Amino acid sequence: MTEEKRTHFRFVEVADHIYAAISPAEPLDITDAGLMDNFSNAGLVLRDGGLVCDTCFTLPQAEELKAFCTEKLGHPPETVVNTHGHWDHYWGNQVFAGARVLGHREMMKDCAGDKNKVSVFKLLHGSKLVQGLLNRVMGGQFKGWLPAGQPFRMVVRQGEKDFDLTGVTPTPPAELFEEKTVLQLGDTRAELIPLGAVHSSSDTIVWLPAERVLFAGDIFADCSLPMSMAAARRWLEVLDYILDELRPIAIVPGHGEVYDAARAESQRAYFRALVDRFEQYYTDTIPEQQLLEKMNLGEFIDQRPRLAWVMAAKALFKERRAAAKANG
Ligand SMILES: [Zn+2]
Repeated sequence: MTEEKRTHFRFVEVADHIYAAISPAEPLDITDAGLMDNFSNAGLVLRDGGLVCDTCFTLPQAEELKAFCTEKLGHPPETVVNTHGHWDHYWGNQVFAGARVLGHREMMKDCAGDKNKVSVFKLLHGSKLVQGLLNRVMGGQFKGWLPAGQPFRMVVRQGEKDFDLTGVTPTPPAELFEEKTVLQLGDTRAELIPLGAVHSSSDTIVWLPAERVLFAGDIFADCSLPMSMAAARRWLEVLDYILDELRPIAIVPGHGEVYDAARAESQRAYFRALVDRFEQYYTDTIPEQQLLEKMNLGEFIDQRPRLAWVMAAKALFKERRAAAKANG
């Protein structure tokens, strides 16, 4: 795989004229001690009219994606697809004015509140006071799971440069689809496959069947985990479909490095372990901390944000305990 490094992304050619735009792999994010270690990625088909899958969230990131495409295609990309309606995957859309921008109808649910989110994020990243407060509240939740001497930090380590939301106006896709949709870029077939609510209100993957390359959004991502048992079960079904039926050779994840088949299998094992161990050890009387210690998914955190599974297990615990209380 050839690679070209630019300011915001490493462009990795995963198949002929098909690229993963990978955000840097250092912990630079919203949470430093480990809920998310990478900003979001994009997938690029630089053939014919050109297709961009997801646009990240700052204008400089999106501009770099567009410039790379334009350089390789000889013109700006004509089509943009959003995998889901989370801010970090579509806020760059406005840079691609003039392109067809497609997304699943249901992703609009997640986009709905995003106008206010821009100013909230600016405040969060601009105010030391707000950061300190959040760190204390959030940090308390992860007591016992933070590495020694490493406090919880909610905010970008590298400063404003990497989180510059100047000029961002969340611009959801204008063209909404509901069913599987096929796009033809010359000889290249791209299938937009809706999966329903898995990681978000609505997740879509972009599948290139001839190349067996998958742009997965956050269905595959180092930081992604199910936050309810229903989502976990649905997610495992989706992973079975992707890994056993589509059988991709390369997966461009929503966050993290390009996945090969082994790495993808490891995500399935990780999710399976989360569900199985929860079911094995949960009782209506077990304290949360004890459940988490029994479940310990530490063997899966290599190359993954270390606190992500803790957050997911806490969400499953809260859901099950609430249900137990409701049932008397
Ligand atoms: Zn994401």
